[in-house]
Amino acid sequence: MQKTLNNQIVNALKFNQLQDIRDLTLKNIENFFTENKEKAFRAKQVYEWLWKKHVSSFDEMTNISKEIRDLLKLKFSLNHIKIKSSQKSADKTIKTAFELSDGGIIEGVLIPAHNRATACISSQVGCKLACEFCATGHLGFKRNLTVAEIYDQVFFIKQQAEENNLLFSNIVFMGMGEPLLNYDNVLSAINIITSKQGLAMSNSRITLSTSGINKMIKKLADDNIRFNLAVSLHSANNEKRSRLMPINKTNSLSELAEALKYFNNKTQNRITFEYLLLKDVNDDINDAKELAVFCKNVPCKINIIEYNPIDNSSLRKSTKEKTDAFVNYLESKNIIVNIRRSRGKDIDAACGQLANKN
Ligand code: SAH
Ligand code: SF4
Repeated sequence: MQKTLNNQIVNALKFNQLQDIRDLTLKNIENFFTENKEKAFRAKQVYEWLWKKHVSSFDEMTNISKEIRDLLKLKFSLNHIKIKSSQKSADKTIKTAFELSDGGIIEGVLIPAHNRATACISSQVGCKLACEFCATGHLGFKRNLTVAEIYDQVFFIKQQAEENNLLFSNIVFMGMGEPLLNYDNVLSAINIITSKQGLAMSNSRITLSTSGINKMIKKLADDNIRFNLAVSLHSANNEKRSRLMPINKTNSLSELAEALKYFNNKTQNRITFEYLLLKDVNDDINDAKELAVFCKNVPCKINIIEYNPIDNSSLRKSTKEKTDAFVNYLESKNIIVNIRRSRGKDIDAACGQLANKN
């Protein structure tokens, strides 16, 4: 009997026809156990091994009987993303290329600040939205990441933080891809990251950044999410924004404003606008005026981001004088403004530079 089972497992693995067990919810695993005449409470134990303890094989589940482990091996695979390479920048930012089980590559970044670390993680392989200033946008789109592929990035970057004696404190979805175009998987991953059976992180330490998919911003509100929302604005002028970000052609600024008001009404959350200052493109006082007017739509704050040059682009970062004038104008209108210096530039780990160069 045992021999037949082993052969079946070997064959199943050989033809790689097994579903990844981490595609299943806790409820799915409970149902699987009941169908197979096993106790449903075992599902919870298995689930904790998969997420919280992050085992890479069924045999590591030491409080689960061999019989059940063999059954799981027969029916499911268990794949982790793999660290392909890691680079450390002069400012101690660490960029990691992860290899997916189908050979795809994504990148995640550990950004240290004092004794804390933030993980910047990817939600898709590439991105289909083709923003002019973004290296990922120039890659094109391959596919959405699974829940487990999103979770694994966080898990591994948390480990790197601990190895470097940093307190793992925040997660930002600002790596490759548009998280709201992979809505279900991103939200399920956040659910596990914040749950006791996962990493028990607080929602208030997680920020999802979007280019502005209005329908999905409203869905976030309907789903009553507790994490933070950042919107990549980069211009409050409709024509200009459409040139920089093609998504604006179908998700105009007036619709974005409406979606954000809806979001704020339901969640009471303040929005963060990200604004990349590009020389002679969107860094004039008139641009600041339009931005100040747009900010009246919802309670918000603005993060001014320094542009990180990408290959084959004529875009340049704004000058210090213009940046100061831009920020001063916004502050004179009582808008909260932070200037975000970019990190990890020397290893192309800064926002918008993630493009699998290595
Ligand atoms: N797709 C989402 C999240 C990933 S991009 C979004 O667009 O918001 C994360 C952030 O990096 C966005 O604010 C984006 O505008 C910014 N970014 C893209 N390219 C950049 C570049 N070259 N320099 C600086 N920031 C960039
Ligand atoms: Fe995609 Fe965001 Fe890059 Fe635009 S900025 S191409 S939405 S990853």
